[in-house]
Amino acid sequence: MRLVRLSVTSIVACLMGFVALLLVGLHSMSEMQEKQAEIKALMALHHRIGEFSVASDALLVNRAAPALRESYRAEATSLKQTLAALAEAHPAARRAIHYVDFLVGTLSVVYEQPNGLPEESEARRQADSPLLLPQRSQAIISQVAGYGIELDAAIREVTSQRQAQIARDANWIAAGFAGAAALFGLFCIVAFGLIFRRINGPLRALSWAARRVEAGEHDVRVPIAGSDEFAELSRTFNRMLDQQDAMVETLSDALATRRALIDSLPAHIALLDGDGKILDVNDQWRHYGTINGYRGKALGVGSNYLSICRASEGSSAEEAFEVADGLQAVLQGERDAFALEYPCHSPDQRRWFRLMASRLAPDLETEGMLGAVVMHVDITERKLAEKELKRQAYRDPLTGLANRLGFTDAFSKHIARQGWNPHDILALLDIREMRNVNDAHGYDVGDQLLIEMARRLEHHFSDDTLVGRITGDQFILLLPGEDFASPRECLDQLADMFHRPIRLSELVIELAARGGYTLLGEEERSPETLLHEVEIALHETRRHDNSEFCRYDREMDRLAQQRIDLTRDLRRALEDDQFELHYQPKVDLTTGDVIGCEALIRWMHPERGMQMPGQFIPVAEQSQLIGPIGDWVLFQACRHLREWREAGLDLVRVSVNVSVDQFRSGGFTRKVREALEVHAIDPASLTLEITESVFSEESATLRQQLDDLHALGVRLSLDDFGTGYSSLLYLQQYPFDEIKIDMGFVRGILDEPLNRNIVAMILGISQVMGADTVAEGVETTAVRDVLLELGCRIGQGYYYSMPLEVEDFRWLLEKKSRLPLMPPPPGTS
Ligand code: C2E
Ligand code: MG
Ligand code: MG
Repeated sequence: MRLVRLSVTSIVACLMGFVALLLVGLHSMSEMQEKQAEIKALMALHHRIGEFSVASDALLVNRAAPALRESYRAEATSLKQTLAALAEAHPAARRAIHYVDFLVGTLSVVYEQPNGLPEESEARRQADSPLLLPQRSQAIISQVAGYGIELDAAIREVTSQRQAQIARDANWIAAGFAGAAALFGLFCIVAFGLIFRRINGPLRALSWAARRVEAGEHDVRVPIAGSDEFAELSRTFNRMLDQQDAMVETLSDALATRRALIDSLPAHIALLDGDGKILDVNDQWRHYGTINGYRGKALGVGSNYLSICRASEGSSAEEAFEVADGLQAVLQGERDAFALEYPCHSPDQRRWFRLMASRLAPDLETEGMLGAVVMHVDITERKLAEKELKRQAYRDPLTGLANRLGFTDAFSKHIARQGWNPHDILALLDIREMRNVNDAHGYDVGDQLLIEMARRLEHHFSDDTLVGRITGDQFILLLPGEDFASPRECLDQLADMFHRPIRLSELVIELAARGGYTLLGEEERSPETLLHEVEIALHETRRHDNSEFCRYDREMDRLAQQRIDLTRDLRRALEDDQFELHYQPKVDLTTGDVIGCEALIRWMHPERGMQMPGQFIPVAEQSQLIGPIGDWVLFQACRHLREWREAGLDLVRVSVNVSVDQFRSGGFTRKVREALEVHAIDPASLTLEITESVFSEESATLRQQLDDLHALGVRLSLDDFGTGYSSLLYLQQYPFDEIKIDMGFVRGILDEPLNRNIVAMILGISQVMGADTVAEGVETTAVRDVLLELGCRIGQGYYYSMPLEVEDFRWLLEKKSRLPLMPPPPGTS
């Protein structure tokens, strides 16, 4: 039976019992009241009988009026009736009835006799003394008195009998009520005992199980009996324990996995409490402690990490204090984490560790500090790799000298060690012939040469000299000023190093160097600034090409900055299509017919207006921008040529100026072929004008490219002939179709006989080579006439036309008129 039902049933039964008890009580009370009333009635009867006896006596003594005797008889009847109700149970009541009857009868007899007592009574009443009554009357009176006494005795007996009976009844009523109450109490005890038994057993079992579980016993289960709520509760409790067991198992599995994971981590891990006390450590920590001979079984567990750090001495003390401070900050919640890399070298092994301390429960909701995890990760491999990388990053792998980064680093260390010396010299040198050596003998020889040069530089100068190789053929040196009488002597020694021939097995290679240098001076600068200075100085040396060493000054810097700005602007100009081609006619000097034209680039600068090539082509050449600019010129010129041809204009050739630098990348021939194909141009219609400087870069690849272009059918023109490097040897070797006499000779042709002879000589060479000759800078008819006289047939110059915008030049072609268009102004001949 379910406990609730049992409890409800018990309570209902108890209530019913209680009601029954109440009813019994009420009944008993009414019974008692009845008994009380009966006793009262008995007492009243007793009193009435006493009265009746007295009245009997009175009636006997004094003659009573008939009315009085009538009420006496009525009272007697009433008494008899009352006594008759008692007569059945009490014989004394029957006796009392008889005595009443005797009394009434005696009185009736007395009153019916004519000489009866009444006269005597009257006489006695008048005499006022019964003792004076006659003898018979005395006997009757005694008889009546005797009856009265008997009646009284009878009624007393009835009363006492009745009272005893009532007392017995009352006892029975009380006993009945007490019995009912006892029965009710017993029932209640039994019911609640039953309930208690049903509750107490399972409850005790449950609390016992709970205590066992609390004590850590997990295999405890509550025995289940019946199917009441406690059975259900016990089942649930057992299920909970089962689930808890499963959870504990899962948790312990997870913990074991985590523990295994933490133990297998390649880090020494310790868990600290909020005060820095070590609570637990992982296997790696123990292992490390064991193999390093740390004393104590606990390997630090239980000790205070902060105290250990603060007690450190010797070389590691500084880092240990730093760790203590950092860790304290973490433990106090001032920071979430702290990390430090530190060396921990053993006698036979160099080792580094990274310490990381992370705060546990870093969330702000957690009040106070729970602790921290400290991890030491062995970063030796990384450190060694870093060192190696640094070494590689700082070293030139070919020569073993410091590279750019290494040199700046060595420089900084040198200054830190020796201080800033204003007399020190920083020099940057490059080998002029390096490119030729590579071309002529191959890169292996070039490499050997660089290695040899590095050894030479290293060994020649004192130990205080820093030597590095910062790019292909550039060596940098920091030379102590004290080692030399003057900077000049220092530079001479340097140049001498490079000028001494280098012997590589069979080969003897002669070299020359050029360089830039800067004096450290009074103003301290960073190594990067100094490097920048010598690079600018070297650049200046290269630009002038007339001295071995340029010394840096600020003006160079300004110009260099200008070049940088210009380079940036040029790049933008290319993107924004700010270039234009102007065309200057090449004219038949005899007829004035336009037989070709030269494309000349112009830069329409948005702020500075039209910029001439001299203002930007050199910078474009230095910054590699000449490649894309030259390509643009090539394609643009071919496009215009195609447009003119499609328009039916009678133009044979277009000349395009090509910078030597455009040949360096090696793809120029392909570009030319592409431009010709894209615009379907006959290669013979395109002339490439290359200045004499091409020979300064004389190399096998350049020669190959020129041969390829020539084979393609493109005409090659040697521009500004006579100004530079040309030697007859070169002319013979290169396939030029045209030679342009530099305008310097042409303009001086009238005044300087030498110029006239030079022009004549050039015309002769061209003739021998089978090349056309074009005279540049024809500005007057007089010059034209002399040129014609010398046998020059083609010219170009302001006399005929300025370089024209493309629309104007097209107009000129359409007009098909001879040049010059206008007769020369008077006085120009
Ligand atoms: P260049 O190839 O020798 O071109 C001839 C230069 O002489 C042009 O100067 C032209 O305007 C100028 N000129 C022509 N006739 C006369 C004359 O009667 N008197 C005087 N005083 N000058 C005359 P520009 O256009 O300033 O070009 C200068 C140089 O810039 C060119 O010399 C050429 O070497 C270079 N250049 C021009 N355009 C390009 C180009 O597209 N690419 C490359 N790489 N260089 C170019
Ligand atoms: Mg030219
Ligand atoms: Mg020229």
